[in-house]
Amino acid sequence: MKELVRNFCIVAHIDHGKSTLADRLLEITNSVPARERREQYLDSMDLEREKGITIKASAITMFYKSVDGREFKLNMIDTPGHVDFYYEVSRAIAACEGALLVVDATQGVEAQTLANAYLAIEHSLEIIPVINKIDLASADIERTKEDVENVIGIDASEAPLISAKTGQNVAQILEEIIRLIPPPPGDPQKPLKALIFDAQYDNYRGVITYVKIQDGCVKSGDRILFMQSDKSFEVTEVGIFNPGFKPVDQLSAGDVGYLMAGVKTVAEARVGDTITLEHFPTGEAIPGYRDILPMVFCGLYPLASEDYPLLRENLEKYQLNDASFIFEPETSAALGSGFRCGFLGLLHLEITVERLRREYNLELITTIPSVVYHIRTSDGMQHSIDTPLKMPDPSYILDMEEPVARLTIYTPERFVGNMMELLKQKRGTFKTMHFITRERMEIEAEIPLSELIIDFYDKLKSRSSGYASMDYEMKGYIPAELVKVEILVNGDPVDALSFICARDNAYERGRLMVEQLKDIIP
Ligand code: GDP
Ligand code: MG
Repeated sequence: MKELVRNFCIVAHIDHGKSTLADRLLEITNSVPARERREQYLDSMDLEREKGITIKASAITMFYKSVDGREFKLNMIDTPGHVDFYYEVSRAIAACEGALLVVDATQGVEAQTLANAYLAIEHSLEIIPVINKIDLASADIERTKEDVENVIGIDASEAPLISAKTGQNVAQILEEIIRLIPPPPGDPQKPLKALIFDAQYDNYRGVITYVKIQDGCVKSGDRILFMQSDKSFEVTEVGIFNPGFKPVDQLSAGDVGYLMAGVKTVAEARVGDTITLEHFPTGEAIPGYRDILPMVFCGLYPLASEDYPLLRENLEKYQLNDASFIFEPETSAALGSGFRCGFLGLLHLEITVERLRREYNLELITTIPSVVYHIRTSDGMQHSIDTPLKMPDPSYILDMEEPVARLTIYTPERFVGNMMELLKQKRGTFKTMHFITRERMEIEAEIPLSELIIDFYDKLKSRSSGYASMDYEMKGYIPAELVKVEILVNGDPVDALSFICARDNAYERGRLMVEQLKDIIP
């Protein structure tokens, strides 16, 4: 009965209380046994708990009896807030009809509040603004409501005012979800059409796909077809996350759950693909996700060269669970065979490398992160260079370009001076600035991506006492003067240590590098 189903995600800027709110909702609906409860329950990865951030979007099914006595099935997806994990949010949104937009009343609307709200609006989700942290003395409820209305343009007059920490007014949200978010569309009688919004590799069971059923039904024993890869399999199990994998008889239109079909090769069940029934197929696949555009690249090499095939296998498995990660083979004179890997940002890079080390027990060497430069050589060729290994000889270079990002900074007015200074240091170009709320300014600028990815975010935070936030998107390429810096060890250049940077930064970066190396090489 899809009239009794609601699919929603929780979106917000980082630290505004998404995962804490998810905890309270799980408690109220008794979805997690008391002995298993812990703070930020859905942040199940060790790394998420250590860092106190959500990395993966995670789905869970809750059963809730409404005040008027109806039994609802609520599928909730908690999402990450940091820009680097934007792709996780976009995929979660595509599996839902509604979103709780959590806004911290001590902070107001921030960069990712806005970015995520727009994403939800673009997908026609019903948005319920939720004002959080009202237990704190510094909470300014009226101002936060005003922010939401003026900046995002949605009505906040009836927004639930809650404390996710104490649980105050949280129960009210469940009633609002039922009242405001529509039941999923879709027809259980039609041919099966299921969107894969996430996946995971299990050593025993193979690929586990996380699906949102748009039309039709699927159960164990059905022959299914993955439309993109054109491969068919027999379903061995379907189920819901309640929490963990809980088998059910069937999934039907509107449901969110998982599906196993003994798929052993990861390439056969990609995130974004549509699943249908082999003998009763749908005419058209669901439009998949838009291609992701990696911003940062680095080389990943196995510590022991014989581990190269193992590394490849594990990167494929990892990629299944992180659709925003890409890789291709690369060779370095110093490090041997490895992979050139693409990421959405530096935090994404750092987290990925750490997950590979922990989840797959890999011993890895990483090279210096780089963006993609455009270089035209005297033979008329245009090269995209994402590694110093491929940098042409300078005598053949006609001109060079580097990627530039459109950057938006939200900051309380008193930090505007600091932000301008930071922009200047990082070769940024100021464009415009205006008030978005009574005391918050929006600064628009352009900045080379290579400056943005290094430590811009940390500097922005430290120079605004944590109050500024930022968002960016790729704008294009601008002319640049670039050099390849080589580091010599005992007089010989080591290719794995070389990097490309703006001529003006070469000396400083090189010195920094040598200093870091002194710690490693005596
Ligand atoms: P997320 O990044 O949006 O998932 O945020 P978390 O749920 O991880 O919360 C970030 C921090 O804010 C944690 O330290 C929470 O304990 C705290 N927090 C969340 N909600 C509240 C609240 O209503 N009141 C107070 N005082 N703290 C809260
Ligand atoms: Mg979280």
